[in-house]
Amino acid sequence: MLCQCPPCQQLLRTGRRHSYLTTISQIRNSELVKCTLCLSYYLHEQSHWETVSSHGDHYPFPTKPKYDAIMQN
Ligand SMILES: [Zn+2]
Repeated sequence: MLCQCPPCQQLLRTGRRHSYLTTISQIRNSELVKCTLCLSYYLHEQSHWETVSSHGDHYPFPTKPKYDAIMQN
């Protein structure tokens, strides 16, 4: 299944950050980031990337990120 944008697929494969990643929160050694391109969320922990949630339905035309409302409350 193809849920992530190409830069994110590379992120998960190689661990290389790309410029569409935005840090949501940082706790101790963990970092929650969001991709503004495919609207997926990732957890970065001990140089390991894990998908928290992905919004493949939106890619490549991101519309309204439904999780943004939840995160801001
Ligand atoms: Zn992405």
